[in-house]
Amino acid sequence: MSSIPEVMLAARLYEPGRVVIEKIPTPKPGPDEVLVQIAACGVCGSDVHITVEKSQYLAEYPRTPGHEASGKIVALGNGIQDWRVGDRVAIWCGIVCGQCEACRAGEENLCDHFKVAGYDWDGAYAQYMKVPARCLLSLDDRVPFEIGAILSDAVSTPYHALAVRGQLTPGERVAVFGCGGLGLHAVMLAKMLGALEVFAVDPREKALDRAKEYGADHLIRVGEGLPPYKQIREATEGRGVDVAIELVGREESIEEGSKCLARRGRLVLVGIGRIRPKMPLIEPFVAFSHSILGSFGARKEDLRNLIEHAANGRFDLSKSVSDRRPLEDLNDCLTELYEKKGDPIRIVIQPNGDMNE
Ligand SMILES: [Zn+2]
Ligand SMILES: [Zn+2]
Repeated sequence: MSSIPEVMLAARLYEPGRVVIEKIPTPKPGPDEVLVQIAACGVCGSDVHITVEKSQYLAEYPRTPGHEASGKIVALGNGIQDWRVGDRVAIWCGIVCGQCEACRAGEENLCDHFKVAGYDWDGAYAQYMKVPARCLLSLDDRVPFEIGAILSDAVSTPYHALAVRGQLTPGERVAVFGCGGLGLHAVMLAKMLGALEVFAVDPREKALDRAKEYGADHLIRVGEGLPPYKQIREATEGRGVDVAIELVGREESIEEGSKCLARRGRLVLVGIGRIRPKMPLIEPFVAFSHSILGSFGARKEDLRNLIEHAANGRFDLSKSVSDRRPLEDLNDCLTELYEKKGDPIRIVIQPNGDMNE
């Protein structure tokens, strides 16, 4: 433990748009907390909202952002019994109380006292991060750190939406509205969960090309030809899809999603927008037992399942990490993501260099 430096490099957000990479004191773990040396932290679209885009504000500044992370435990606070120094971990990105009704039911994503790492708690764009032990998951040796990092948000969010909220079962059909990072993983996971056919819907040709690489069976380019829901109906002999997942938070795609459902179809909303979409026509909605569901983040159990699937090679995320960069490059990475330069899927920050032995 003597090797932990007194100061560490961290990216500090002083106000929207101003991230400064600087030395700050290394945090010390309190009771029931551990100190994690960060191996990898995914750069997420939501980081862009609080930084370059200046469209979302934090309750307190300065703050260290970064919420999709993995690393190695380097110090234990008082009361920690289940973890050891040297353990490889994925950090579940919610900082939760562990005591409320939701937490006790294993639905930590709905915790009454939910805090998000990188927003309400100093996150992982730093060499070290202090984390409550209950937010850790053991990371199998077979799963590289960078994959462990992106599993915790970019992959677990669509997994929760499809498997838990959408109750996708093998043989069903799925439509994915929005094929950015989350959407591509939604396509991949839908296939892993046994979907018969997956429709990828996006206005961008490049995004659709990628969706194909991730396993999409049908590509629907928004703005070309018939409206997407009509194309989906045509391709399914009028039947529609069992699960539609909306990842953009746009009125148009929510409406399309509600119109492409089969009997007992579920439209799962993941994208967040300050919008009030029109209700679908009630007659078919009721007559065909449709549902519209919200889905927020993922439970720890979802992340645990995903780590296991990744360890057993049930999906291939080797294409998902488009770049690995040092912490000093964070501002450039955020701008590149904002400008969609080179269309990155996930850029991963390695604040301590490459920690994979
Ligand atoms: Zn995120
Ligand atoms: Zn709670």
